[in-house]
Amino acid sequence: MSFTDLMTFQRETSALGQVAGRLGWDQETVMPRGAAPQRAEEMAAMASVLHGRRTDPRVGEWLAAIDDTTLDDVGRAQMRHIRRDYERTQRLPADLAAELARTRSQAHLAWAEARKAEDVPGFLPMLEKMVALKREEAQALADGGDLYDALLDDFEPGAKAADLQAMFDALRPRLVALRAACLDKPAPAGLSGNFDEFAQMKLARMLAKTFGYDMAQGRVDKAVHPFSSGSGLDVRITTRTDPADPFNCFYSTIHEVGHACYEQAIDEAYLLTPLGQGVSMGVHESQSRIYENQLGRSRAFTGWLFDQMRDAFGDFGIADADAFYATVNRLKNGFIRTEADEVQYNLHVMLRFDLERAMIAGDLAVADLEAAWNDRFAVDFGFAVDKPSNGCLQDVHWSEGLFGYFPTYSLGNVYAGCLNDAMRADLPDLDAALAQGDTGRATKWLGDKVQQHGGLFEPRDVITRACGAAPSEAPLLTYLEQKFGALYGL
Ligand code: ZN
Repeated sequence: MSFTDLMTFQRETSALGQVAGRLGWDQETVMPRGAAPQRAEEMAAMASVLHGRRTDPRVGEWLAAIDDTTLDDVGRAQMRHIRRDYERTQRLPADLAAELARTRSQAHLAWAEARKAEDVPGFLPMLEKMVALKREEAQALADGGDLYDALLDDFEPGAKAADLQAMFDALRPRLVALRAACLDKPAPAGLSGNFDEFAQMKLARMLAKTFGYDMAQGRVDKAVHPFSSGSGLDVRITTRTDPADPFNCFYSTIHEVGHACYEQAIDEAYLLTPLGQGVSMGVHESQSRIYENQLGRSRAFTGWLFDQMRDAFGDFGIADADAFYATVNRLKNGFIRTEADEVQYNLHVMLRFDLERAMIAGDLAVADLEAAWNDRFAVDFGFAVDKPSNGCLQDVHWSEGLFGYFPTYSLGNVYAGCLNDAMRADLPDLDAALAQGDTGRATKWLGDKVQQHGGLFEPRDVITRACGAAPSEAPLLTYLEQKFGALYGL
């Protein structure tokens, strides 16, 4: 009944979790199409093994028998993660967990079909069932507390909906105003031409290396949706190509590289333990977004990228590096969250946060979701949703039961704003390096301040320690207003 025994058990669980993740990576990249039915069974078997280990009564016995006060800081942090995870699984009745798993795959199918057919009513029965189950789950986990907080805690331990509400309340009016002011001005030129997809992948791999991604312990492949997967010594990313829009490929790559570098930079002593992965979705997203935006879309770095793109593709109709910077950061009216620019992205997120919070609270009937979505969209974005796949059917999250996930995207942006301020105060010459395509100082700063710690500290504490101040939305707002104010001559 020793801590060593518990950690041996945990390492094996983590290793199996990595194996399951790699099956998922394989499915999205190189798996032969005909293997799908067998793969579904393989993945279900892994999920059942992992569930069995997470709920194994021996973990409860170990947790009861081990005296935390005899452990060092790292040991206590490991115990905190293991205990939290175990207590969550204990609170959730087994039949509810099984029903949620079943509903997840049914709802996902129903959503995919409804989205293709633009058929909101076709999805509503499954969504209603999912919301009811998530409310039940939240009640089991919340222990009398706020239902939404209980779900949020799965993605962002310790975060509270009331704090997020205050953050969004501060962001919303200024982002709505900034958006309207920019779109009122003449739009910068867009890209034109056809961009060879092989050359895009070549440049994407170069960008991954430029941002410090270790190819000896990772790889870049193509997939329908960009993602990163794995921890420690095997962290893989995917990207996609569109001949008309190379930015999609390049900035998806840089984004996923931010996630992957976080996982690669975690202290090797934590390998295959609860501390050996990113601490929360919000902190994870702060790394992908600071790589993508504050570094990758900066004036300094885009100057270098402009030269690389001219070398790769020849003349593509953009006159110089200043015009290129404006093109990279161009605002456009759009319906889709994942395609939104830095100014509008968080408006998409807060719309979802408000609606999902209302559904979990029981204040918004699922039947009224589409109308509520469309009304809100018109208020913040100033034009009407034209079809459900551009509105309430665009995201996969709710069909998978991922309630409480959306706000971590904005939390990541807010954390990235804080980290950018602190990093630039520490590295006053950063832009000179970025203009040469040298991100090394920035990525080292993030590695030292954030990434190496893995799960050692609580999410908010990671940012507070790195920045020397508690997180706030103010740095992000100032950064956006200055950057886009200058770009659009406001
Ligand atoms: Zn991300």
